[in-house]
Amino acid sequence: MSLDTSTLYFIATMIAAMLGVMLLVFGKNENIPALKWWGTAYLLGAASVALWSLASNMLGEVVSLALNAVGFVACGMVWNASRVFHGRKPNLLGLVLGAIAWIAVVMTLPPAASMMRMTIGAGIVAVYAALTATELWTERRRALQRRWPTMMVPVMHGFVLMLPILLGNLLHPHDVRFAGSIWVTGFSVELVLYAVGTVFVIFMMVSERAVIAHKNAASMDPLTGMFNRRGFSEISSRLIEREANAGRPMTAMIFDIDHFKSINDRFGHPAGDEVLKLFATVVVNTLRISDLSGRIGGEEFAALLPCPLEEGVVAAERVREAFANSGIVVEDGPVDTTVSIGVAGGPAGTELEVLLAAADTALYQAKRSGRNRVEAAEELPLSLENWRRKTAGLSLPARAEPVVA
Ligand code: GH3
Ligand code: MG
Ligand code: MG
Repeated sequence: MSLDTSTLYFIATMIAAMLGVMLLVFGKNENIPALKWWGTAYLLGAASVALWSLASNMLGEVVSLALNAVGFVACGMVWNASRVFHGRKPNLLGLVLGAIAWIAVVMTLPPAASMMRMTIGAGIVAVYAALTATELWTERRRALQRRWPTMMVPVMHGFVLMLPILLGNLLHPHDVRFAGSIWVTGFSVELVLYAVGTVFVIFMMVSERAVIAHKNAASMDPLTGMFNRRGFSEISSRLIEREANAGRPMTAMIFDIDHFKSINDRFGHPAGDEVLKLFATVVVNTLRISDLSGRIGGEEFAALLPCPLEEGVVAAERVREAFANSGIVVEDGPVDTTVSIGVAGGPAGTELEVLLAAADTALYQAKRSGRNRVEAAEELPLSLENWRRKTAGLSLPARAEPVVA
C-alpha cells in the first residue's frame, strides 16, 4: 500500500480542524475554558500545517517560518489547555518559547542543515508533548485516578516525533532521503491518530470530572463540608475492605452534641449551625488524616478509624476535650459545647452497620451517665437483626427522654 504524503497531510489537517471546531463549540456551550484553548490550538495547528504543506513552495522563507512558529504556538496551547483544565494559570512565556526557539534555530542554522532543523523542530513538539504528559501525570496522581489512558496519547506522540532522532541514523545511515520520507509518512499518520486520540482523552476527562462533581454533591454535607451519611458509608465500606485485607481491626464512633436543641432555642438556629461547623472542624483537626468522619444526622457525627478499640477511645477522648474547650461566643454570651461519644471496635472486616449499632448503644450509655463523656461498647451485636429487635423497644423511648438540664 502506498500512502500519498500530501493526501495524508490534507486528511490530518481536515480532521484536526473539524475537531477544533467541535471542541470550541462544546467549550462555549458548556463554558469550559480549557476546551476553548484546545479547540483554538487544533484550528491554529491545522491552519498552519495546511498552509505550509500546500503552499510552502510558493510562499517566501519568512511566511513559511511564521507558519511554523504558529504551529509551535498551537503545541504550546495544547499544553496550556491541560494546565487550565486543572485550574492552573496559562503559562504565556512557555506558550511562545517554542516558537522563539524555532526562529532562533532557523536564523542560526544554514538552510543546508535541513535534517538538523527538522530534528530540532520535532524536538520542540516533543518537549510540549512531554510537558502536557507531565501536567496530566501530576494531576492524575493528586486525584488518585487511573492515569495511564490520559498519559499514553501525549507520550506516544512525543515518542513518534523523537523516533527519527533515536533510530534514524541506526536504520538508514546512508539514505537520508529514504529515512526522511518514511518519517514524514509515519508522522502524518500519527498526526491523525494523535488528533483523534487527544480529543477522546479530553472528553474522557471532562465526563469523568462531571461524574465526580455530581457524586461529590450527593455525598457531601454543604453546611460542614464533611461527608453526609451516604458519602460516609460509601467511603467507609472501601476503607473497611482495604483494612480487612491487611487484617487490621476497625473502630467506629458516634458523636452526639449535648443539649443541642437548647442551644438552638437559646441562641437561635444560626448559632446552632455555627456550633455544628465548629464541631466538624474539631473532629477533622483532632483525628488523623487516615481516619474518616462524616455528619450522619442533624447534630450526630460519625468517624471510622483503622485502629483497635483502645486507641479509638483515646482519640474520642481527645475530641471530647477539644470540643469542650472550644465553646463559641455569640452576642448573648458564651455557648457551652459538649459532646457525648459512643465507641465500638471490631476485628478486621467488621461491617460498618455492626460497628455503628454497637457505638450507638454505647452513646446511649454516655448520655444516661451524664453526657460530656466517652463510653466504649462492651460487645458487638452478634446479629444485626437480633440486636435491632432487642433494642427496638428500649432505645426509642429512652432517646426521647426529657433532657435533664
Ligand atoms: P441530647 O443531649 O440528648 O443529645 O439532646 P439534644 O437537644 O442534643 O438532642 P435532640 O435530638 O433532642 O435535638 C437535636 C436538635 O438538633 C433538634 C434539631 O432542631 C436540631 N438540628 C438538627 N439539624 C440541625 C441543623 O442543621 N442546624 C441546627 N441549627 N439545628 C439542627
Ligand atoms: Mg441526636
Ligand atoms: Mg444531641
